[in-house]
Amino acid sequence: THFGFETVTEAEKEEKVYKVFRNVADKYDLMNDAMSGGIHRLWKDHFIRRMSPRPGTKLLDVAGGTGDIAFRFLNYVRSQSDFNSLTALQTSTEQGVDINEDENSQVSGRSRDCHVTVCDINQSMLEVGMNRATQSGITSGISWLKGNAECLPIEDNSFDVYTIAFGIRNCTHIDKVVEEAYRVLRPGGRFMCLEFSHVSNPLLRSVYDEYSFQVIPVLGQILAADWDSYQYLVESIRQFQNQEDFKRIIRTCGFRAVTYENLTFGVVAIHSGFKL
Ligand code: SAM
Repeated sequence: THFGFETVTEAEKEEKVYKVFRNVADKYDLMNDAMSGGIHRLWKDHFIRRMSPRPGTKLLDVAGGTGDIAFRFLNYVRSQSDFNSLTALQTSTEQGVDINEDENSQVSGRSRDCHVTVCDINQSMLEVGMNRATQSGITSGISWLKGNAECLPIEDNSFDVYTIAFGIRNCTHIDKVVEEAYRVLRPGGRFMCLEFSHVSNPLLRSVYDEYSFQVIPVLGQILAADWDSYQYLVESIRQFQNQEDFKRIIRTCGFRAVTYENLTFGVVAIHSGFKL
C-alpha cells in the first residue's frame, strides 16, 4: 500500500500525518462519531475517570487536537470541586458557621484552579479546538501550544500528568515521545496514553479487521470526500505496537509501575506509568 510505513521515509511520514490532520480537522468530530459509533466518547470518559484528576492538577495533553481530553478534564475537576464546595457549604451551614461570600468564592476559586495545556503539531486542529472552547464558554484553565511531541517546547519537571490520546501512533519516534513525557513530568507525575491496540481474540479480530479495512475508508469518502486519509488512519492502527511491546517501551524510558488496561476487547488500551 502506498501509505505503508516501510515504503516511506520519516520526513514523508511526518508530512503525510500533517496533511491527514489538516484535511480531517473540520470533519474530525463527525468522523470519530461515525467510525466508532460514538464509543470514542466512552473511552475518553473512562480515561479521565482513570486519571481521577484533583483540583490543582496541571495537565499536559499532547497531540490534543480538538480538545476532547482537555474539555473532559476541566469538566471532571470542576464538577468534583463544585460538589465538594457544596458539601463544605452545607456542613458549615449545618454547624452554624457563617461563611461570607468572599470566603466562598475563594474556596471555589481555589478548588477550581486546575490547568490544561493542549499541545499539537497541527495548527488546523488547534484552531478547531480553540473555537470549540469559545463556543462552550470555556475561557479559563486552558492554553494552546503548537509543538512536536518528540521535542516539546516545555521545561523539565513542569506537569503533574501527561496524556496522549490517539496521537502517539502518528508520531515517527515513539521512544522520543515517551522520553519527552518523562522529562516534562515532575517526579511523582503520571504518564497516560489512550491508543488503539491489538485485539487478541482471533474471531473478534477478523470481524474488526474486516470492519476497519472495508468500512472506514468508505465512510471517509462519503462523509469527508477523503478516502486516503482514512485509509492511512486504519493502517497506522495496524502498525502500532501491541500492549506488551508498548509497555516495555514505557518502562525502558524510565517509567515505573507501568500497567495497561484493555477497553472493548483491546480495540484500545490505556497505558499508565509513573516518574518515580
Ligand atoms: N487527542 C485528540 C483526540 O483524542 O481526539 C486528537 C487525536 S488525533 C487522532 C491525532 C493528533 O495528533 C492530531 O491532532 C495530530 O495533529 C497530532 N499529532 C500528530 N503528530 C504529532 C506530533 N509529532 N506532535 C504533536 N502532535 C501530533
